[in-house]
Amino acid sequence: MDTAIIGGGIIGASIAWRLLREGLRPVLFDAGTLGREASWAGAGMLVPGTEFSTPTPLASLAVRSLAMYPGFVSTLERDSGRTIDFSLCGSIEMAADAREADAFEERIRLQRDIGIEAHLRKSQGPWHAELHYPRDGQVDPRDIIAAIRTVFERDSPYALRERAAVQSIEPHRDHVLVHTAHGPFRARTAVLAAGAWSTDIPILGPALAVEPAFPVKGHLASWTFPAGALGPIRRRGHHYLLQRRSGTVVAGATQEHAGFDRTVHAHAVEEIARECALLWPELGASPPEHSWVGFRPATASGHPEIRRVGATPLWLAYGHFRNGILLAPATAESVAGEIVAAIK
Ligand SMILES: Cc1cc2nc3c(=O)[nH]c(=O)nc-3n(C[C@H](O)[C@H](O)[C@H](O)COP(=O)(O)OP(=O)(O)OC[C@H]3O[C@@H](n4cnc5c(N)ncnc54)[C@H](O)[C@@H]3O)c2cc1C
Repeated sequence: MDTAIIGGGIIGASIAWRLLREGLRPVLFDAGTLGREASWAGAGMLVPGTEFSTPTPLASLAVRSLAMYPGFVSTLERDSGRTIDFSLCGSIEMAADAREADAFEERIRLQRDIGIEAHLRKSQGPWHAELHYPRDGQVDPRDIIAAIRTVFERDSPYALRERAAVQSIEPHRDHVLVHTAHGPFRARTAVLAAGAWSTDIPILGPALAVEPAFPVKGHLASWTFPAGALGPIRRRGHHYLLQRRSGTVVAGATQEHAGFDRTVHAHAVEEIARECALLWPELGASPPEHSWVGFRPATASGHPEIRRVGATPLWLAYGHFRNGILLAPATAESVAGEIVAAIK
């Protein structure tokens, strides 16, 4: 085994797929089912425009990852023979009054330095103004996971180890032992990509400084509308709406510090429905058909851990918080690239 990947969400699965394309032998260990946690729950907005206001390395990574998306999707579609619901549909953020519109002007100026294109215009509806990000996009993350699963089931079926929780990780100088209930597995390299659970898995041996991960729960809800009814993503603060190619309109999201509590709370869903109906009144006519929760993998610094741990053969790829779907192509390129360079 060249690389043991611990966690099969969009981050671990994307890294595994890239390594497979490079001719390496990755093995994906997941405690449950591939892609059924945050990467199943996530809305799939690809919106550096509405997420990053100031020039930081993370903002630049997000812009780069969005630029990689068309190639990432078309290569994965070709590899898997599946269609992925992806579009550069743009996004619009609403301002309620002149003060908010002035803040948008300042944001546009700062975002120019990160390479984010934005245009402020008067709103047609009840809003004062709209900030339009023409290059933002969206993807259905479940399609990405399904495509990666197809590739692995066809080309490397034994590399998918589901219901195989990793109990601890033991890095050595030139290999890593990954301990599971089925015994230890030896790999030349390993990647810790277990999302919000990443630092619940002990790393044995000399203490390594890694930033703790923790969950930030989010509720989402969905309705069915005629395909194409919504147009660009609409957003105000943490509330947003996007429409899948199938017609499904997804609305989000809450941000809750509630540990790994999987309860779907009616009051949280009602709040989303109420706030999102202000963004698109059509939504107000009926209650959502579905609602669900997921756990964003957060870190206290607000930055993901994407790096090799010292000189060990262990890499970290977790803590992508609200933007793991957006950041998957750039994370996979960076981590897989370093592993290939270290192994070959
Ligand atoms: C409500 C909500 C809305 C979101 N909206 C967006 C959005 O619009 N755009 C965007 O870019 N991002 C969004 N996100 C964030 C995005 O979903 C996450 O950042 C991303 O999915 C994280 O991917 P991951 O692979 O790191 O984690 P996960 O998808 O959570 O995967 C981690 C995997 O590790 C596995 N695992 C756990 N413990 C172990 C173990 N001991 N051994 C082996 N495997 C283990 C789990 O089973 C899981 O499959 C949203 C998230 C939520 C919750």
